[in-house]
Amino acid sequence: MSFPSAPTPQVDRLRDLLATPRRIAIVSHYNPDGDAVGSSQGLAHVLRQLGHTVHVVLPNRPPAFLDFVPGSNDRITFDKDPDDARQRIQECELLFCLDFNRQDRVGGLERVVRDAPSKVLIDHHQDPEDFAELAFSDTYACATCQMVFDIISAMGHAGVIDREAATCLYTGLVTDSGSFRFPSTTPHTMRVAAALMERGVDIASVHGAIMDDNSEDRMRLLGLALGERMRVLPDLRTVIIGLSGQDMARHGSTPGDTEGFVNHALSIRGTRLAAFFVERPDMVKISLRSKGDLPVDRFLKEHFNGGGHRNAAGGQSNETLEATIARFERELPKFLQQHPA
Ligand code: 5GP
Ligand code: MN
Repeated sequence: MSFPSAPTPQVDRLRDLLATPRRIAIVSHYNPDGDAVGSSQGLAHVLRQLGHTVHVVLPNRPPAFLDFVPGSNDRITFDKDPDDARQRIQECELLFCLDFNRQDRVGGLERVVRDAPSKVLIDHHQDPEDFAELAFSDTYACATCQMVFDIISAMGHAGVIDREAATCLYTGLVTDSGSFRFPSTTPHTMRVAAALMERGVDIASVHGAIMDDNSEDRMRLLGLALGERMRVLPDLRTVIIGLSGQDMARHGSTPGDTEGFVNHALSIRGTRLAAFFVERPDMVKISLRSKGDLPVDRFLKEHFNGGGHRNAAGGQSNETLEATIARFERELPKFLQQHPA
C-alpha cells in the first residue's frame, strides 16, 4: 500500500503545524544514503519555498557521488560542525526525522534529537520506535522520498515541487529502489517518478551520477572484493564478502566506495543471501541483502544491533572482522532453517 495522496488526519495536522512560518530542522540517519540526502534536501527546498526557515543537519558526510543533489552546499554535518549542528536542532520549533526508524540511528546527534520537543517522522523502515509527535510510517513505500512527495501533494503543495526539489526526491527513488528494480517498486513509484520527470529532472544525469561515475580506485576495490575476498557457500545459497581496513587503505577508499558491492554478490545465480562486511576504524559494518521472504532485518536486529528492511538491512559489530564473520557463519544455518526457501 502506498501513502494516500488524499488528505488524512495526519496530513491535516502537519498542514496546521506548517500554517505559519516555522524554524525547522531536518535530520537523517548516520552514513546518509541517496534517500536520506534526497528526502532531507528535497523537503528542505519545498519548506523554504513555503516560507519556513530550514536547516538540514546530517550526522556525517554523505559519499561524494551524492554531492550533485541540490542543496548539498547548504547543509550542516555534525562530524564537521558539531556545535552548529546541535544548535540548529536545539533552536528549531519542528524537527523532521527522515528515513530512520530509531533515534540511535543519528550517531552523535542522538542526545539532541532525543531532547527535541516537536518531532515529525517520515520513514519506511520496519518497526519504527514511537518517538515522534506526528509519525508517517509506511514500510511498503520504496523510499522516504516517495513518501515526502506524497505528503507534500496531499497537503496541496505539489505545485511548489520545482526542478531542484524534484531532482532531490528522484535521487532517493532511484537509489532505494535499485533503479526501479527492487520488489518495493510499484506502479505508484513509477507515477511519482513520472511526475518528478515532468518537473524537469534530468534523469540521464541523475542516473549517470549515481551509477556511471566511478573513480578508478573504487573499481579496483570492487575487483579485489569480487576477485579475492568473496566466498560462495552454495549449500546455504549465501555469498560473503569481507574487506579489511588494509584492503580499504590499499585503494585509498572512503566508506561510500563500497556502496552497492553487496548487490553484486546477491546477483550471483541461485543466491538467497548476500553479506558484506567492511572494517571501519570504529567498528565492522555489515550489510545484508536477500531475495524473497528472507527477513535480514530480523537477523541483524537479533545478532548485530541492526535493522532496516526485509530484503536490505545493516548492522555493526565491535569484534574483529574475522570474529564478526565467524559469528555470522555460526548463526546463519539456524536462521536459514527458520526461513526455508
Ligand atoms: P546498508 O546496508 O545500505 O547500510 O543499509 C541497508 C538498509 O538498512 C538501509 O535502509 C539502512 O537505513 C538500514 N540500516 C543500515 N544500518 C542499520 C543499522 O545499524 N540499524 C538499523 N536499524 N538500520 C540500518
Ligand atoms: Mn530509505
